[in-house]
Amino acid sequence: MFDYVIIGAGFAGSVIAERIATQVNKKVLIIEKRNHIGGNCYDYKDENNIIIHKYGPHLFHTNNKEVFDYLSNFTDWRFYQHRVLAFIDGKNVSIPFNLNTLYEVFPKTIAEKLENKLLGKYKYNSKISILSLLKEKDDDLKFIANYVYEKVFKNYTAKQWGLKPEEIDAQVTARVPFYISRDNRYFTDKYQAIPKKGYTKIFEKMLNHPNIKIMLNTDFKEVCQLKDDEFYLFGQKFEGKVIFTGMIDELFNYKFGELPYRSLDLKLETVDKEWFQKVATVNYPNDYDFTRITEFKHIHPANSKRTVILKEFPKPYEIGKNIPYYPVFTKENRELYNKYKKMAEKTKSLILVGRLAEYRYYDMDDVIKMALKVFEEKVK
Ligand code: UDP
Repeated sequence: MFDYVIIGAGFAGSVIAERIATQVNKKVLIIEKRNHIGGNCYDYKDENNIIIHKYGPHLFHTNNKEVFDYLSNFTDWRFYQHRVLAFIDGKNVSIPFNLNTLYEVFPKTIAEKLENKLLGKYKYNSKISILSLLKEKDDDLKFIANYVYEKVFKNYTAKQWGLKPEEIDAQVTARVPFYISRDNRYFTDKYQAIPKKGYTKIFEKMLNHPNIKIMLNTDFKEVCQLKDDEFYLFGQKFEGKVIFTGMIDELFNYKFGELPYRSLDLKLETVDKEWFQKVATVNYPNDYDFTRITEFKHIHPANSKRTVILKEFPKPYEIGKNIPYYPVFTKENRELYNKYKKMAEKTKSLILVGRLAEYRYYDMDDVIKMALKVFEEKVK
């Protein structure tokens, strides 16, 4: 009856389902544990008419035209450039730390001196990760590197990951580099936009096809089991391919132990005033137990006298208790993941895609790009 089973209805699963249904006219069953599609990109309109990103803020940005064009089939866009401030020593300053931020935190003469030193060493418009900047020998460059490390990265990373910046893979903190420019935007990608009616509508449009059936509220193990490198669907041997986008350690019953993920406690608050803060996200590296506050009205404008904010409190993922949001990128964890991956390779009908199944810190555009690639190379 089905040619493909897809486990998980986030971007990885939904893009592949859409491609299979429309490009090769085959039948797909999607199995989804939650009571909705869209994975962690799921959003909804609340009673104040404000679109809320239920699992934390999702800001679409990409340099990949193919990905942007593909998503444009399912949504109109609101052109939006994300801006973030960080609350440092009682003041909100521009993040990523850039030449403007120097003037926001230091007296003019010191800021000028630091700016000249940075411009003497680095090209205008270049980006440098904090861990590389820390290796500088020059006293002024060392001073600014230490300042940014201490005030922006050290405590935020301790809250977010339970680790020091140098204990986690360098690419994690390199996501937010020092910008040698006066660009205050959080991302510098060519395409930055928000789906006009939210992300859930994109998923509804992608999956609304007679070739796609969705089972919500269903743990995949209830209907689809892996035994001796073969899949069984509703108790019968399944001859098609299984595209798995969930946690790889769960698929193999934690055979080699649990892969660590970070989870979040998300606290939504409705505030009885028109605006709460100046930009969509304010980071709190050093104060309070949350990492950041997001105000959704900045992302999706709404006609409301009230505003809704979200505070994020990071914590470890615990099976069955909370939601895995981020793979924890360390060498040790990557090695454990590789054991599972090797095991997965024995099952010829299994394809792994997405943040959880590949244990990668993918952004939305990375997931979509990978799903389109997997469809072309392994499914079609
Ligand atoms: N980070 C930080 N301070 C900040 C912003 C980011 O230390 O003010 C570090 C932190 O380790 C974080 C990583 O950079 O986990 C990546 O940040 P990003 O904003 O990309 O995280 P996401 O939006 O994916 O949660």
